[in-house]
Amino acid sequence: MNIYRSLADGFGRKVTYLRISVTDRCNLRCVYCMPEEGVKLVSHADVLSYEDILRLVNILSVHGISKIRITGGEPLVRKGITRFIKDLSGIKGVNDIAMTTNGLLLEPFAAELFDAGLKRVNISLDSLKEDVFLRITRLGRLNDVLNGIYRAKEVGFYPVKVNAVLIRNINDGEIIDFVNFARAHEFNLRFIEYMPVGLNAGETVTSKEVEDRIKEAFSGFMPLNDKSDGNLSVNASVSKDFTFSDNKAVIGFISPLSKHFCEGCSRLRLTASGKLRTCLFYDNEYDIKKLLDENNENTAGNDDIIFKYIEDALKQKKQTHLFNEKAENFKNRICSGDIDTGWANDYMNKIGG
Ligand code: SAM
Ligand code: SF4
Repeated sequence: MNIYRSLADGFGRKVTYLRISVTDRCNLRCVYCMPEEGVKLVSHADVLSYEDILRLVNILSVHGISKIRITGGEPLVRKGITRFIKDLSGIKGVNDIAMTTNGLLLEPFAAELFDAGLKRVNISLDSLKEDVFLRITRLGRLNDVLNGIYRAKEVGFYPVKVNAVLIRNINDGEIIDFVNFARAHEFNLRFIEYMPVGLNAGETVTSKEVEDRIKEAFSGFMPLNDKSDGNLSVNASVSKDFTFSDNKAVIGFISPLSKHFCEGCSRLRLTASGKLRTCLFYDNEYDIKKLLDENNENTAGNDDIIFKYIEDALKQKKQTHLFNEKAENFKNRICSGDIDTGWANDYMNKIGG
């Protein structure tokens, strides 16, 4: 028997969007995401297999999950990613597959990913200057990322979204350069507020401050809703979007710190080791890997039990996150040298952002 009801949390928010971290491994070590020496990695045996992810998506798509984002770690370092995306895109009900990548390997992968059914790509780019790029990412070449971004546009991804995390006195001097870059290539640029999750990389620059600096420099900068003829299509669910009177780019602000977007939250997250998280900012994890295990006598061939387990997990989701309180706690713990406990371990590479 299959129970055809939409997935929703205890507050009636429909869950339609699954973010899948396919690996916790990465070819960069961004200062706000990973410590320089890297993190203790999930062993290969503990990584959720593509087969298990596909089974989970098959279960969830029946109940309303239609949108998927592939993230990591760096998703392009996991072997077989193109084949996996092709299989995902064949699942009935899944109509939007996107990826967040650091772009280092995008140039060689872009065409095959597009052909496999990946619809949209977000590329992280925190500086347009080689030395600052290296200071933030600790590894990697800026040019490889830029070539990946250009290639993505060339093979047909649209819109190409570029994500920048600003840290005061490191890259916030580049706000106008980023905007000019987006306008020159008609990219969709999003500024994401730096969240001190697990690491203390510096000071957050709020979305409001960035918006004000752009308004000072560009006279025709306006909220996107005021301009309905804009031809760069966007998904404005968590991003507050702006454009220019000449339509040259969309600039979005994602403000998890200054303006949380819990109200319309439709997300569920899957970690590389097969744990479900109902909120980025709560530590509760639900081990779905052991339920998907084909040797599990209780769940083998019984998708309804797995769905019910996920439904119950969602019922425990809080109405809103308390990130700022947690951030205060975290700062206190950094000062006392206690950075290895609790949520401080939850580096973004594990959760997938
Ligand atoms: N490796 C891929 C990448 O960098 O795009 C995907 C994973 S990464 C964890 C996903 C997104 O989270 C990136 O856009 C990254 O900039 C962002 N991110 C990571 N740590 C962050 C933090 N502490 N605050 C804000 N954004 C963060
Ligand atoms: Fe890797 Fe992305 Fe984290 Fe940077 S933000 S270390 S690229 S996972």
